[in-house]
Amino acid sequence: MSFGALGLCEELLKTVAEQGYTKPSPIQIKAIPAVLSGRDVMAVANTGTGKTAGFTLPVVQLLSGGANMDAPTLQAKCVRALVITPTRELAAQVADNVKNYSRRMNIRSVAVFGGVRIEPQIAELQAGVDVLVATPGRLLDLYNQQAINFDQLEILVLDEADRMLDLGFIDDIHHIQKLLPKTRQTLMFSATFSNEIKSLARGMLNSPLLIDV
Ligand code: AMP
Repeated sequence: MSFGALGLCEELLKTVAEQGYTKPSPIQIKAIPAVLSGRDVMAVANTGTGKTAGFTLPVVQLLSGGANMDAPTLQAKCVRALVITPTRELAAQVADNVKNYSRRMNIRSVAVFGGVRIEPQIAELQAGVDVLVATPGRLLDLYNQQAINFDQLEILVLDEADRMLDLGFIDDIHHIQKLLPKTRQTLMFSATFSNEIKSLARGMLNSPLLIDV
């Protein structure tokens, strides 16, 4: 199986080759075509499986092919894809991945998390953002300060959902969900598939493809 067979565009195939990735990992083989097709996905996958590229590559392709291709940051503050992570470290890491994989595309990504001043993050959002990577608490703070608009949100990704529950973010996640458009694509990644995760998935995903690698 090659990356080309998964439906990725030329720009991303070049980027992936430059990364030195010769073949897609099992999660990527299943997740990339499913995300590109617009489906919701529930993936049970650990760190180290290549899951980040598994959602980042198709998400940036979907955004770059959308109606806003030439002016993705036209509507300041309108986020098009939101990735929620349980920790700042993961938020920073995922945002680095998004920047890296989208380097041939006109996509602006920003990471926001707690423990640092909020004002510079508000200024960054003001400049427009296509992909926002955020921890739950800071995301809600920014929303409450009217620094973010979710009206144009197309894609929601919940990364490491099991850790999100372990860290007590369930109420924040439910609160965030209420702020988002109902018509959207949702992807959820978790290392475990507990009853809590299944119940969260039922409430957030629409006929998801279940991927367990
Ligand atoms: P992740 O599971 O997303 O944390 O990724 C783990 C590591 O695997 C990262 O350092 C990626 O750069 C790397 N990686 C992702 N996809 C591939 C691939 N198809 N081939 C080789 N390495 C990869």
